[in-house]
Amino acid sequence: MDKNKKIPITKPFMPPAEEYHAYLKGIWEREWLSNNGPLVQELEQKLKQYLDVDHLLFVNSGTIALQFAIRALELSGEILTTPFSYIATTSSIVWEGCKPVFVDIDAGSLNLNAALIEDLITPKTSAILASHIFGNPCDIEAIRQVASKHDLKVIYDAAHCFGTLYNGRSIYRYGDVSAASFHATKVFQTVEGGAVITREPELNQKIDFMRNFGHDGPENYSGVGINGKNSELHAAMGLCNLVYADNVLASRKKQFLYYNELLDGLNARRPTVLPEAKINFSYYPLIFEHETDVLEIERELQIKDIHTRRYFYPSLTKLDYVARQHTPVCNDLASRILCLPLYHELQESDQQRIASIIFNTVHAHQL
Ligand SMILES: *Cc1c(COP(=O)(O)O)cnc(C)c1O
Repeated sequence: MDKNKKIPITKPFMPPAEEYHAYLKGIWEREWLSNNGPLVQELEQKLKQYLDVDHLLFVNSGTIALQFAIRALELSGEILTTPFSYIATTSSIVWEGCKPVFVDIDAGSLNLNAALIEDLITPKTSAILASHIFGNPCDIEAIRQVASKHDLKVIYDAAHCFGTLYNGRSIYRYGDVSAASFHATKVFQTVEGGAVITREPELNQKIDFMRNFGHDGPENYSGVGINGKNSELHAAMGLCNLVYADNVLASRKKQFLYYNELLDGLNARRPTVLPEAKINFSYYPLIFEHETDVLEIERELQIKDIHTRRYFYPSLTKLDYVARQHTPVCNDLASRILCLPLYHELQESDQQRIASIIFNTVHAHQL
């Protein structure tokens, strides 16, 4: 066991370089780099098949996917959202001129608590934007019911969800729009990139125009657009990685279960998962009893060059550009969660080292 080995929180899965080079050769031959090239089209087709979804548009980030969702659904006023997510969930709402109204989270799953939605609905509420946090599905059925009762749109920030299933089908099939991220740190990566997944062909068409400046032919425009396209080089990375997606998901699961085994007996819990859901094991979050536990363990691991992250601390209600709102469950939980390293190359011996440092810290500090 190498006691000095640096262990990052995550590492991108990299396909064999020769396989990427083969795609580059084709790109050099065609000299077609962007604007809906053949590799972008091929990746979209293959992702639709792999994920079993009807419409999917490859765009240049998960964040622009969220912004397209808000724009295309013509949302305004207030959007009910989760305070426990990455900042892009909130910032995209504000960027699109809407006001985020935070719904506190469920202490078990860490996802937006659907039971609290109704009390926060006002005449200005236009939608719910929830995150399936750590690839763990929200209570989709409860959200669907309250949304349909009050005629609200539903957007899912599904940035963490590649490979997650709900009722045996891709999680991306749920909500009016689902936004995926294929950023380098995500389970399936295209360097930078994301996707907008919809069920309605009209909505898909509208977003297709939006991502390409509104171009409807060389001289015609359909609506205001922006540059949300992605390139042949990014698509090539996706095509290479898609071949290994099953393999990456399987190794995550194995590592996740091994952590469970190694950390058995530790005074910490993991988020609860609904019976309808099959998670993708994209993160390994642990919820400790006290923030001091998190800080001590983070520090002890850091000293040994093992990097953890306090995803997602602090709560998004603390951002200086949103109105402060009362989300006590989130504020408390966000301070007590630590994500452990998890990536394709992580070895069992690395996991053993991490677990033993955690137990030693706990015993030394009698946490
Ligand atoms: C990564 C992430 C995003 C943003 O995705 P990008 O592709 O980096 O723009 C949005 N929401 C969540 C929850 C994320 O983790």
